[in-house]
Amino acid sequence: MKKKKLIIAGAVILIVAVIAGFCVKPVKQFFADRKAAQKTGFYMDTVVTADITGENCGETADAVFNAIQVLEEFCLSKTAEGSDIYELNEKGKYEVTDSTLGILEKSLEVCKKSGGALDIGIGKLVDLWNVKNRQTPPSQEETNALRGSRYEGISVEANDVTLKDGVKIDLGAVGKGAACDSARDICALSGVKRAVISVGGSILLYGDGEFTVGIASPETGSADYIAVLTTGAGFVSTSGTYERFFDYEGKRYHHILDPETGYPVDNGLCSVTVVSDSGILSDALSTSCFVLGLEDGMKLCEEYGCQAVFITDDGKIYTTDGIRDSLEISDDSFSFAD
Ligand code: ADP
Ligand code: MG
Repeated sequence: MKKKKLIIAGAVILIVAVIAGFCVKPVKQFFADRKAAQKTGFYMDTVVTADITGENCGETADAVFNAIQVLEEFCLSKTAEGSDIYELNEKGKYEVTDSTLGILEKSLEVCKKSGGALDIGIGKLVDLWNVKNRQTPPSQEETNALRGSRYEGISVEANDVTLKDGVKIDLGAVGKGAACDSARDICALSGVKRAVISVGGSILLYGDGEFTVGIASPETGSADYIAVLTTGAGFVSTSGTYERFFDYEGKRYHHILDPETGYPVDNGLCSVTVVSDSGILSDALSTSCFVLGLEDGMKLCEEYGCQAVFITDDGKIYTTDGIRDSLEISDDSFSFAD
């Protein structure tokens, strides 16, 4: 009797061991897949968030934040002493790092293709407007005095960048998208499964399958989304009047400037969202299209093979053809234009 019990117990242990043997791997995989990390920080004068799943998600989030900090402090910041752009703006000629060079070259390409709607050479004008801290607009004389300072005054030879007198670089329109490109490179190296990383108005969507992205209300810029975009991996950037502005005598003065007039763009648009497979391009184009306006902005997106959503002050939504069916409006004060 005792012997029989022992045999049964032995058999049970064996079966459990075999089942466990089969299960260990999938169970391990299951927990690995469910590993998730969320992190929030403040870089490039904006909120940065990371939501990452898969193996090494915590380390990847840390690495992404470090990379964004390095990009800001050593390359792109206009105010951090020692950064490439700070030194270049101070000295007028400087040998920049390869990272900064790549970003400058891509930005200058879009400056040209947009006919100067994007202009990374208007740093002085951006400083004059200083929309974050100003309460009254600058005078016409002040803005006129800076009209000649444009991106054409930037010349690049290998890593040596030279600025014409009066020209200062501002990469506010492209830096956050460039940060998303760095985040993508890190995700690809670390092998995480899925990541959503937002740097202000620019977002990286990394991994298989679909993602949903809310388009912020152009009135409040808050999380009251007015539409939801469903898309695959890539980059989404939005430029809007709501990001930074002040109101003076019943008029809104926001942070996206028309380099031709020297004044904030006033063309009936309140936000432009661009979807691209490059972070810097999505960011550069969202600003360019905002300045260019609906018609020319659409053309530029088509030229680059990017998709875009334009929203007008009167609540109309225009999209490029390839994105229309992926956009669902969730606020009935907005509607498709046609
Ligand atoms: P955000 O900074 O909110 O992401 P954008 O990507 O549209 O918005 O960039 C706007 C910033 O770019 C401004 O705060 C300013 O630093 C800079 N800027 C404003 N107008 C232009 C322009 N026409 N071309 C290039 N940079 C611009
Ligand atoms: Mg931009």
